[in-house]
Amino acid sequence: MTHHKVTTHNLGFPRIGPNRELKFALEAYWKDQSSDDELDRIAAQLRTQNWQWQNKLDWTPVGEFSFYDHVLDTSFMLGNIPERFRTLPKNELDRYFQVARGRAAGEMTKWFDTNYHYIVPEFNRSTHFALNATSLLKQIEQAQTENVRAKPVILGPVTYLALGKSTDGVNPLDLLESLLPAYGELLNMLAAKGIEWVQIDEPILVTELAPEWTNALSIAYHTLKSAPIKILLATYFGSLQENAYLAANLPVAGLHVDAVRGRNDITPLLNVLPQHRVLSLGVIDGRNIWKTDLNATLDWLEPIALQLGNRLWLAPSCSLLHVPVDLQKETQLDPDLVTWLAFAKQKLQELHILAEALNNGRHAVASFLHENQTAVESRRQSSRVNNPVVKLALANLAPDAGTRQSTYKERVTKQSARLNLPLFPTTTIGSFPQTKEIRRQRKAFRQKEIDAITYKTAMQTEIASCIKEQEALELDVLVHGEAERNDMVEYFAEHLEGFAFSQYGWVQSYGSRCVKPPILYGDIQRPKAMTVEWILYAQSLTQRPVKGMLTGPVTLLNWSFVRNDQPRAITCRQLALAMREEVLDLERAGIKIIQIDEAALREGLPLRKTQWQSYLNWAIEAFRLCANSVQDETQIHTHMCYSEFNDIMPFIAQMDADVITIETSRSNMKLLEAFKDFSYPNEIGPGVYDIHSPAVPDTAQMTALMEKAAQYIPAERLWVNPDCGLKTRQWDEVKPALLALVQAAQSLRQSI
Ligand code: GLN
Ligand code: ZN
Repeated sequence: MTHHKVTTHNLGFPRIGPNRELKFALEAYWKDQSSDDELDRIAAQLRTQNWQWQNKLDWTPVGEFSFYDHVLDTSFMLGNIPERFRTLPKNELDRYFQVARGRAAGEMTKWFDTNYHYIVPEFNRSTHFALNATSLLKQIEQAQTENVRAKPVILGPVTYLALGKSTDGVNPLDLLESLLPAYGELLNMLAAKGIEWVQIDEPILVTELAPEWTNALSIAYHTLKSAPIKILLATYFGSLQENAYLAANLPVAGLHVDAVRGRNDITPLLNVLPQHRVLSLGVIDGRNIWKTDLNATLDWLEPIALQLGNRLWLAPSCSLLHVPVDLQKETQLDPDLVTWLAFAKQKLQELHILAEALNNGRHAVASFLHENQTAVESRRQSSRVNNPVVKLALANLAPDAGTRQSTYKERVTKQSARLNLPLFPTTTIGSFPQTKEIRRQRKAFRQKEIDAITYKTAMQTEIASCIKEQEALELDVLVHGEAERNDMVEYFAEHLEGFAFSQYGWVQSYGSRCVKPPILYGDIQRPKAMTVEWILYAQSLTQRPVKGMLTGPVTLLNWSFVRNDQPRAITCRQLALAMREEVLDLERAGIKIIQIDEAALREGLPLRKTQWQSYLNWAIEAFRLCANSVQDETQIHTHMCYSEFNDIMPFIAQMDADVITIETSRSNMKLLEAFKDFSYPNEIGPGVYDIHSPAVPDTAQMTALMEKAAQYIPAERLWVNPDCGLKTRQWDEVKPALLALVQAAQSLRQSI
């Protein structure tokens, strides 16, 4: 076997802890129920535990632990704290939390195409950088005391600039020159601490880069190469494609690439990679929860290992921040399913087996490889995964299955006749406040403390009072309020076949907030109607139309851990087909308006623009399949949260929803420009009430917003509604706000 030794490492480990310890520690601290010493103690304990779990690695990531967000940590380390916080709390930690979540906090946005959110760095002409690496050094010192072979992880200067926003029009790239000395100082400081390797993350290398950005990468790494430390430049979340040559030739000691999503880059990369440079292959999927097919991976890796010798490093594709911590805690999952999964700890075990097989031959780990093979095959063949009925239904779909019978113009006449709504009809987006009482009932039912009948009665009581409130407010189109739904994805996933739920599969979304995505493991089928009973009950209480309320296929897909054994497009079609049956059941039951939420449509866009078209093609097709099989008289609504629509307008129009409600109040209706420029033909409900704020908007404010909207869209195609669902609000905020909203609509009608 080979004489060379492959090196193993990891890019980052979940910080939240197996029982969300960090979440609870943070929340206690924020509520003044604990001290900073206590928070520090818990953080140190979590790091120790994380490092112990990684102790078979040759290099352990250190410094990626964060109290809130690693991008915000980077801003603090570089002394780039927004002006408005400079004098605020004297305590550094409190200041940090102010920027993270205080009043006028930094803006939060999604980290590449993950569901993790970072605090956007702010830049202006007077931004200057001053290194303060105390917090990183503290983590390194702790690691060294605990004999951890530490490889510090830092966010690279160019990605850092690319992720930020300018507050005065300064081009962030103009700051590179003043930023690099801080990085240089940091690298020297790390070297002085005896650090051999440092991991510098530049994930923007998997995106399309304008020439000035590729140039910035060259400048940055040619400047930093003089530091007496080895740099492992890490890229992840995709393929390098046209940036491969640049990445391979930046003057660093090693390059890490995502060999799951960027598998096709590797062969060409091997041809251009300079001699002596380490190549780290991220062969274990850090973005999903499935077991790796170790034998297939070895088939692919062995020749590469021969070629690279000890220049080959192995790792997960990206930081394990995006997967849950430990599968071992899952005692309630189906035993078959458990054998198909790997969370962070299990992924490191896989990495270890791969390295052993490469270093000592597969026979050295024969029993592990055999066990892995059995699991992989059992998943491939399982009848729980493969449902011929679903495959047949997909194959038999008529080509026009996603097309309405008539055009919007023809439909609208029939719908108006049937619905008889006033001009500027008022409605809400679906959920009403999720009160303590509602949560209590749902929890009691889940824990089997109350039976199904008691639960149903309790939910019906909630629905009834929600309808009564809406009638009193004189809203035109009502909703049932979604009391029975804990979450817009989880509710449907629980009712569909092909989904499973972990108990502890938490992943950090931002700060202390975690999500537990459902696991979509098999062909999707809908055993029975999921919402009809609730909606019909609501409709039975009122003469006004009640909207059926569903989550769309694209959102169900994008907010779940999905199977990797078939293209996402096919999984999405299956979801569409199941949800389509629900749409048809609602229609048959006499429901006249059906809303299909696609809150996550836009955030599923691929990182590279060249791939947008293909994603949008199948995503929109899935929505159409789900929505468009209804009769002309049935009105389809869709809802999307804050989205820029300019660049995807043709696709939004292709959805052909009769009404789209969108979040616009914070943009002052600017988002409607895209609809106007495109001559969007159908109806629009631009949100006039910012539901993210407890503030109660007044009638004049909302009337003004609608008047603005009418400059873009003809009044007869406008609806009046809040920006999004009201579940996080209180009734005493919602009632006056909606009252004012209805009054705004009334005054608009009079002024026409
Ligand atoms: N119908 C959902 C609600 O009102 C929509 C939520 C969303 O768009 N995020 O809660
Ligand atoms: Zn929304």
